[in-house]
Order: sequence, then structure tokens, then C-alpha cells
Amino acid sequence: MPDLQVKTYTGKDISLKTETIDKLKESLRGKVLTSESDQYNETRAIWNAMIDKRPALIVRCASAADVMRAVRFAGEHKLLVAVRGAGHNIAGNAVCDGGMMIDLLPMKSVRIDAKGMTARVEPGVTLGELDRDTQAFGLATPVGINSTTGIAGLTLGGGFGWLSRKLGLTIDNLISADVVTAAGELVKASATDNADLFWGIRGGGGNFGVVTSFEFRLHKVGPEVFAGLIVHPLDAAKDVLRFYRDFIKTTPQEFVCWFVMRMAPPLPFLPPEWHGKHVLALALCYSGDMKDAERIAKPLRSFGKPVGEHIGPMPFVAWQTILDPLLTPGMRNYWKSHDFREASDGLIDVLIAHARKIPDPQSEIAFAQLGEGVTRISKEATAYTHRDAQFVMNVHGRWDNPASDAKCISWARELFQAAAPFATGGAYVNFMTQEEQDRVRSAYGSNYDRLVTLKKKYDPNNLFRLNQNIQPSGS
Ligand SMILES: Cc1cc2nc3c(=O)[nH]c(=O)nc-3n(C[C@H](O)[C@H](O)[C@H](O)COP(=O)(O)OP(=O)(O)OC[C@H]3O[C@@H](n4cnc5c(N)ncnc54)[C@H](O)[C@@H]3O)c2cc1C
Repeated sequence: MPDLQVKTYTGKDISLKTETIDKLKESLRGKVLTSESDQYNETRAIWNAMIDKRPALIVRCASAADVMRAVRFAGEHKLLVAVRGAGHNIAGNAVCDGGMMIDLLPMKSVRIDAKGMTARVEPGVTLGELDRDTQAFGLATPVGINSTTGIAGLTLGGGFGWLSRKLGLTIDNLISADVVTAAGELVKASATDNADLFWGIRGGGGNFGVVTSFEFRLHKVGPEVFAGLIVHPLDAAKDVLRFYRDFIKTTPQEFVCWFVMRMAPPLPFLPPEWHGKHVLALALCYSGDMKDAERIAKPLRSFGKPVGEHIGPMPFVAWQTILDPLLTPGMRNYWKSHDFREASDGLIDVLIAHARKIPDPQSEIAFAQLGEGVTRISKEATAYTHRDAQFVMNVHGRWDNPASDAKCISWARELFQAAAPFATGGAYVNFMTQEEQDRVRSAYGSNYDRLVTLKKKYDPNNLFRLNQNIQPSGS
């Protein structure tokens, strides 16, 4: 076999001898793939089909020891490194051109301590896998709304979903993590072990090392929640959203309602004449005592004249997968996002105007509601700093034909610009694209300098640079 041409993080191309690659292979429980390997193409593919990168080698890790060996190998040869959890991140940093991809997807173990109400989770686990395992014990931790998202990337950036208003971000439920640092050493991070690192990985992304195990606090949830969708004509959106923003303040923390503007998909509960029409969908989930659910949701359900509604008790695990059909992998995606403290009249007008111009039936404007579970924690307590945001908007440009790239991308950018005057100026790292390196400083706000100090300590050569990168130089 000829020598392998590999890219370094300094931008050089180097040759690695076959014996060198063979030695790496022999040291691992997992596999090393190159472009000649059978599973190469499926392993380098990620959720966002806009990203098509070809690593020189992929290390499919089976254990923390494999991750240590891969990181040491990469450090020794100064390789460009990408780290992949479940490959959902919009920026596509899970894969690289010419370097080494450290693939954690094979690491799938979940170990529940039902009595202690904790879970030990490996980084290749998806949200759906975690929910199914924890719900077998009637337990859960707050995660995102799409079951094929990876727990690793989601947690490292913050993580929010239907349970966050009450139970906080995913990181607020992280008790400890095992981390392979840039030096290839496995260390524990918790409130008492390497507390600085524990602070940094709660929102600081993959900047400081590779997490090989997460320990989460679990809560009693379900097994049923009261959840579903209420769909209104977009023409009614202004009145509905004005009612909504006041209504949610009257509800208990177990009640969460996100909203989406898009063209109606052909859902069976919507009259056929509404399929493809512009709508506002309210997606609500109440995870409190089921006997109160109807009463709490009633004012929202009674407001206006919805064109369709599908709401009721359902298993939490089922609700957690309900949006999956709209978020399947393999489409082209371009996102822009903002944080907001409130849904003001001016912002609502901007959203409605741009929703009317949605460029593709798959594209949408999604608004996540956060709330007290997130805001009650101080902004210095974890690297995730924008605790004051009540809503996170994701302008989700999504389409399948490359010929639509320009029109879908410019729609997302125009809405982003138009909504900027209403936004906090903060940003959620997990929603940022590869071209938003200039927003990293604002994404970390007043925590940025502390993160730079941490980066210098744990990754002085910036081995872990394919992420929303905190540079050791602070630049
Ligand atoms: C359809 C969809 C729905 C989403 N919904 C939500 C939501 O409801 N709530 C929410 O908070 N977010 C949501 N997100 C955003 C999601 O949190 C991020 O995309 C997240 O990065 C995905 O993690 P992953 O492991 O799948 O991604 P990957 O692309 O595999 O990883 C993302 C990055 O994280 C780093 N990384 C991954 N694993 C590790 C590790 N073990 N150690 C160190 N670094 C690592 C790497 O830098 C990598 O580039 C959603 C994303 C999508 C595509």
C-alpha cells in the first residue's frame, strides 16, 4: 500500500507510512478506515448534505482507550482533527478534508442507576436512544427535540428541549464527564475534579478535549406527557403570538410551547386544502401532573380559529420523535439564529413578513421557548452564558435541490438581518454555521476570556480547532 497523504493542522501535507498506520490499527479495539474501506462513505456522511468532506483516515473508536490512542497519534503527527458524535451539527465540523476524523458513533453504552437517578452515557448515543433507555425507568434528562441528534455535541454546546423550562439545560444536569485532553490523557471533570474543565465543557463545545463518557442527573418524567400541535393560518399569526406570549407567562414550568412558521406539511389532521399553505404551528408539551393538563392548555386551544389540532396524552418517548419526519438527514441545510428576551410586536411583524417568502416547503422559522430552568442559573456558572434569553430562533433553511442553494441561503440571511435589532446579540453555538467564526466571541460573551485561559491550559496547540473555535491566542 502506498504512503497515506494526510493534512496537518498547520496546513501542510505529510505522508504517513503504511507501517505507521498499521501500528495505530493494531493498538485499537475499533477500526481505521481510509478512502479504500467499505464503510468510508457512510461514515463520513453527516446530517447536513451541504457538507461533503473526505478525511484521509477515520478512527472508529470502540472505547476511551481508542480515543486516547487516536488523540496521541494526531498530536504526534500534528494532524488536522475532526471529532464526530452523531454528526448532526449544522457547521459540519464533525468531518474534515484530508485530516483524521475521530468517530465516536460506535460508543453506544448507556448505564442507568435508577435508584441514584443518574445515567452514564457514551458519546455515540443519540437522544432517542437515551430517552428510550431512561424512560424504561420512568426517568429522563432534558435534551433536544429531534431523536437522531447526538447527546455529545448537544451537551457540549448547552442543550435544550421540552423539559428545559423546568429542569434547565442538558449541561445543568451534567454531574461529571470523562475527557481525553489534547495531551491524550483521560481525566475526570466534575465540581470537585478539574473543576475549571468541568466549567468549560458545559457550553464551550469540543474545544478542550474529547468526552468519552457523560454522567447525567435524571428526573421522574412521564411515561406520558400531554403534547401536540395547534395549527393556525399565518394570517392569524400576529394575534395568536400576542396571546401566546402573555399566556405562557401564566403557565407552570412544566408547560412549554415552541412555535414554527412554515408551509403546512400534509399532516393527516390538517384539511387537505391547507397542505402547502403558510401556517403558524404551536408545538406544546406539558410534562406535569396529567390531571391538570386539559385545564392548563385550554386557553391556548380555545384562542382563534385553528385549521387543525392534534393534542393529547402520549408517551414522552413518542413525543420526542414526533418532529423527526421533518428533520431527516441528507437534505441541504443552512441556519441562522438569534437569542431574544421577548417576542415583541416588531419582531412578530418581521417573522410574518419573511414567513410569507419561505423559499422551499421544507424551510421554516422555529422558535424555542427556554424559561426559568435556564434563566435561574447565573451566566458565570457555566461556559454557556446567555441565560437571559427566553427564546432562541432558528431560521432553518432546508431544501434538496442544489439549484436552490442561493435563494434559500439569502432568505435565511435576510431574515437574520431583519430580526437583528430585536435580538440580544448572543448566539447559541450549537446553531452556528461554519462561516460564523466572527460570532464566537459574542456566543461566549463575558465568559470568553476565561475560556481562552482554559484553552491555553488544556489545548495550547489548538488540536481541537474544528468547532466554534476558541483560539489559545484569544484572537
Ligand atoms: C434536526 C436538528 C434538531 C436539533 N434540535 C436541537 C434542540 O432541540 N436543542 C438543542 O439544544 N440543539 C438542537 N440541535 C443542535 C444540536 O445540539 C447540535 O447540532 C449538536 O452539535 C449535535 O451534536 P452531534 O453529536 O449530533 O453532532 P456532531 O456534528 O457529531 O458534533 C458537533 C461538534 O461537537 C463536538 N463533539 C462532538 N462529540 C464530541 C465529544 N464526545 N467530545 C468533544 N467534542 C465533541 C465536535 O466539535 C463536533 O464538531 C439540533 C440539530 C439538528 C440538526
